[in-house]
Amino acid sequence: MSDTVTSRISGFHKLPLQERLKELARMFHFTPAELVQLQGSDGLEPALANQMIENAIGTFSLPLGVGLNLQVNDRDYIVPMVVEEPSVVAAVSVASKIVREAGGFTAEADESMMIGQIQVTRYGDPTEASQKILDAREDILALANSFHPQMVRRGGGAKDLEVRVLPPPEGPRGEPLLIVHLIIDTQEAMGANMVNTAAEGVAPLIEQLTGGKVYLRILSNLADRRLARAMCRIPLALLEDFGMPGEVIAEGIAQASRFAQADPYRAATHNKGVMNGIDSVAIATGQDWRAIEAGAHAFACRDGQYRPLSSWFLEEGHLVGRIELPLALGTVGGPIKIHAGVQMALRLLRTQSARELAMVFAAVGLAQNFAALRALGSVGIQKGHMAMHARSVAVTAGARGIWVEKVANLLVLAGHVKVEKAREILASLPAEEAAAATGTG
Ligand code: NDP
Repeated sequence: MSDTVTSRISGFHKLPLQERLKELARMFHFTPAELVQLQGSDGLEPALANQMIENAIGTFSLPLGVGLNLQVNDRDYIVPMVVEEPSVVAAVSVASKIVREAGGFTAEADESMMIGQIQVTRYGDPTEASQKILDAREDILALANSFHPQMVRRGGGAKDLEVRVLPPPEGPRGEPLLIVHLIIDTQEAMGANMVNTAAEGVAPLIEQLTGGKVYLRILSNLADRRLARAMCRIPLALLEDFGMPGEVIAEGIAQASRFAQADPYRAATHNKGVMNGIDSVAIATGQDWRAIEAGAHAFACRDGQYRPLSSWFLEEGHLVGRIELPLALGTVGGPIKIHAGVQMALRLLRTQSARELAMVFAAVGLAQNFAALRALGSVGIQKGHMAMHARSVAVTAGARGIWVEKVANLLVLAGHVKVEKAREILASLPAEEAAAATGTG
């Protein structure tokens, strides 16, 4: 199958929705039942939703699209993306097309090492208590692993232990914080439940060793032992666009990167763009996107100032982009194996492991960021954005079917993308056309 799959599907965005599905069905040999699952038309069963969360009353839909043209480490990926914001899917596709011509993204990801934190209090002397814990390292790791025998058989489990003494937040008269970190290889799982079980499981032994009292026992979402990195290197000639030479576009992108590096106000928006891409594929593939968000932003602050997750610079006639961030992802656990839509999204993506998934996520984040900076550093984003925003404005005003596009085009031509203007356009149509345009005919 892998030989028949390409993420470069020319003209895909111009096809009607059903034709797009047919195109994917041809490529992936999907059955009609699988296509229904992909399309989400019979959605998540309410009974299943009721098992997933508390007080369930139903389900809630969002658009699913596919980011195209992505190539990472010489492999093609069709990227399932769930997002309500226009232009996110287009941005990933446009950026990936340019990077593809430059040889694609290269990416790598660390092993699935998660951190479990155990907070020890009333332990007496911090140096002595730390030493007692470190001396019992092997016993603590063995106890942690006793809760996950299967995981150990897979080659994962608790691998290391660290003790951190942190200054008391209330000043020198307070007790320093004594924090034990359990480093656990969670393999194909995001690992929160596994880490929490291990942290809770070893707490009594740590209390016994130190004579102290343990309070919190939980994973850290700052998963900085589980980083993913992606990179691209684009010859300047490939950047020529908007009637501007590649050098000028590249300079705009590099300047945008400098701005974000120096200014947290800009870095926040820069990283929001990165996460537009990452969150969309995270939701489609059943990942805990709050955990990913928490990890990304904490990592962005690691040197004390909030900084961009990606950077861009010019090097020997090329624009070079890099991204690095924690990505605690799973191919098992949470809703992944029980949600049919997630399973179909993972089939489209064709990743074989949590690490490969992390590499694709990192590349998607960098692609999204590239598209945003390319526009921001040159013509601005409103031109492209407004064309797409105009469609939702047309829908809000009541346009339906082919009239959404027609009204959107008229709004852009008028240079006035507002619901009031769209209503005015619809109202100006002859009665019969107006009825067809608003689906009331
Ligand atoms: P689960 O506990 O749902 O599932 C992981 C389990 O899958 C493992 O414990 C393992 O069980 C089994 N498994 C089967 N094959 C493999 C394999 N190849 N590699 C690894 N495990 C395998 O999920 P997680 O522990 O990943 O926890 C994720 C969930 O926790 C998410 O839903 C998240 O929202 C939630 N969560 C997040 C928190 C946070 O981020 N702060 C806090 C609390 C929960 P076995 O070894 O027994 O086979």
